[in-house]
Amino acid sequence: MGIDVGGTKIACGLFDEEKNLIARRRCPSDPALPPEAFFDGLVREIRTLLEEQSLGLDKLRGIGLGMPSFIRFEQGYIVKTSNLVNIRDFPAKTYLMEKLPGVPVILDNDAHVAALAENRFGAGRGFKNMLYCPISTGIATGIIINGKVFRGTYGWAGETGHMIATPGEGLVCGCGNQGCFMSWCSGSMIIKHIRNWIAQGEKTLMTGLAGGTAHIDCLHLEAAYDRGDPLAARALDQMARYMGLWFFNLYVTFNIDCFVLGGGLLNMGDRLLGPVRRIFDSYNRNDMPVYFKPAELADRFGMIGAAELIFEEYGSLV
Ligand SMILES: [Zn+2]
Repeated sequence: MGIDVGGTKIACGLFDEEKNLIARRRCPSDPALPPEAFFDGLVREIRTLLEEQSLGLDKLRGIGLGMPSFIRFEQGYIVKTSNLVNIRDFPAKTYLMEKLPGVPVILDNDAHVAALAENRFGAGRGFKNMLYCPISTGIATGIIINGKVFRGTYGWAGETGHMIATPGEGLVCGCGNQGCFMSWCSGSMIIKHIRNWIAQGEKTLMTGLAGGTAHIDCLHLEAAYDRGDPLAARALDQMARYMGLWFFNLYVTFNIDCFVLGGGLLNMGDRLLGPVRRIFDSYNRNDMPVYFKPAELADRFGMIGAAELIFEEYGSLV
């Protein structure tokens, strides 16, 4: 079973021995719950999904979980979780294995899980080294080196959105620091910049399109940009500058030639990605090929990658 835990929903997928997705369930994730209640609810979902297929717990090879969390990988211990602030300082693997006797559990960060899925089955197929970069409300990286997920010493390698771009300058991010890359160019932070500019007296079509400053989101940004709104152009220019720089710094660090991009900001298409590529190329002083590819597995990558954690650890028939 592969489980994708997000800030708003949980998707559970049941796979057969040949890695086919044979059944799935979805439920909302409740950010108000303490970790015990949260994982008790998850155990009920797991048991229900099995019952629907008339399967016993003994038929499960294992459960992989991808979570938007800092996870000490070896211990399966959750340090903290984006969007689910109560899910922190919790030995999730131990807890789940007590509730589901005899079933191995592997927990991993969601960007790592997505990187694994895209590398094995998606846009990164055939690349020995690959970076999966979600560009969405947040930005991050899942790192594949020599065909394996690189997790770092504690388990949260790839939190590259929190690399600091402008110390002491810019907005304070959820990570607690000022001026990290995410604070300049992620979907949620660019909206904060736009609201600040409006508060300083800037005019924009976005206010009218959204029915008030408080309701502006990235779809309004896109629509205003298409109508030639200067503030929307300023926002997209800022995003492209920092995103291009972020990708370039990642390329310099890893010398990995395949970037697979996922997440909601992909919908901005060439409005954003065209300038990002131009900025990346302007810094890049050699002509070896570097590929930027859209992710291919849509909303299934979380379940697929989480199940793949189990297949790779415990084997499969294919
Ligand atoms: Zn940050």
